[in-house]
Amino acid sequence: PYTGPSADEILAKRREFLNPAIFHFFKKPLCLVDGKRQYLFDDKGRRYLDAFGGIATVGCGHSHPEVVEAVCNQMKRLQHATILYLNPAIADFAEALASKFPGDLKVVFFTNSGTEANELALMMARLYSGCHDVISVRNGYHGNAAGTMGATAQGSYKFNVVQTGVHHALNPDQYRGIFGSDGLKYANDVDDIVTYGTSGRVGAFIAEAIQGVGGVMELAPGYLPAVYNTVRKAGGLCIADEVQSGFARTGSHFWGFEAHGVVPDIVTMAKGIGNGIPLGAVITTPEIAKVLTYRNYFNTFGGNPVCTAAGHAVLKVIEKEQLQQNALTVGSYMKDRLIALKDKYEIIGDVRGRGMMLGIELVTDHQLKTPAKDETLYVMEQMKDMGVLIGKGGFFGNVFRITPPLCFTKEDADFLVDVMDYSLSKV
Ligand code: PMP
Repeated sequence: PYTGPSADEILAKRREFLNPAIFHFFKKPLCLVDGKRQYLFDDKGRRYLDAFGGIATVGCGHSHPEVVEAVCNQMKRLQHATILYLNPAIADFAEALASKFPGDLKVVFFTNSGTEANELALMMARLYSGCHDVISVRNGYHGNAAGTMGATAQGSYKFNVVQTGVHHALNPDQYRGIFGSDGLKYANDVDDIVTYGTSGRVGAFIAEAIQGVGGVMELAPGYLPAVYNTVRKAGGLCIADEVQSGFARTGSHFWGFEAHGVVPDIVTMAKGIGNGIPLGAVITTPEIAKVLTYRNYFNTFGGNPVCTAAGHAVLKVIEKEQLQQNALTVGSYMKDRLIALKDKYEIIGDVRGRGMMLGIELVTDHQLKTPAKDETLYVMEQMKDMGVLIGKGGFFGNVFRITPPLCFTKEDADFLVDVMDYSLSKV
């Protein structure tokens, strides 16, 4: 059993010694001290079903024994060697990762986070194209350093610092967007940006296949192929941000972009890649990768043996335990059950997503789509009290985000939906 300081003591320390920007969702935050696969345990030993942590940390489940073993073995052997020396961990993982990509996407640069991966991808695209202008999609999230904060297109994640050269395109939002699910019409906005907002040349286009922070928004079908075409004609590179939608989460495909029938020039990853170990990656073609050799470029911890050992172990577990298939089967089952809830509760405006990346948008008025922000928080809190942790997001903070570890079972899905059903009945 846990014998450390109480939740109240930790909270008091946190208030005194940690930056106040570090927030928590719940009125009374949980103190989590243990994790096993899809479960988390608090300081009192109470078990919670985790339907959110999967996005950030656990592709194959909390404390997966094979990932833990790979990390511990590597820790005991060698924790850090600069990339000036040879070590098998980074090379083996790069090879395994590259085998998961189509086309000429073959060479990897490892980073420590999603922000770093996207910063690097944007810089490589700018260098390769010789053009600074970047286009990103409104409501997208790509990170919080200068370049990525520029590409992020939600005001609440932006500070007024230098963010030059980014144009934000209309979001092909199938729920609230003016063109419904007609991807080609939204894609015209990117043509307009090139025509009116640039010299006619662009450096890059960056998008998530499913906007995560933005509230599990799947880009309208037909959008990406049309935009990729426009951007390439204008000399730019197409970057797929797979930080949330990658690593089998969407079930139907290993990468989110694959559902749109496109092959990007650069793909970025983080979060699930290392099962909670700080790790990110940028993969691109050998030709584009060369731009980094024009000057000196390095990342002290990027590709560290411990982190890459973790990443490699995660990839093996996803394959061994057939987690992509599980994401598809259990995710689709859960989505069907959530759609049935929509018929029961007026407050559910939309149920969307793929595999184990699902969103449920709450609105107080179906016509006006008025965000039901307070109700979203209330249901989340109720579900937490009944032992189920879900996330929230969306521009208005009125979308439940369900992104569990990919080992989530049908029974877990039933429990989650039953608890949500009960909580919604109390709204
Ligand atoms: N891209 C996407 C799609 C993300 O969701 C996030 C994080 N929410 C990032 C990039 C940034 O990743 P990190 O927090 O690891 O810097």
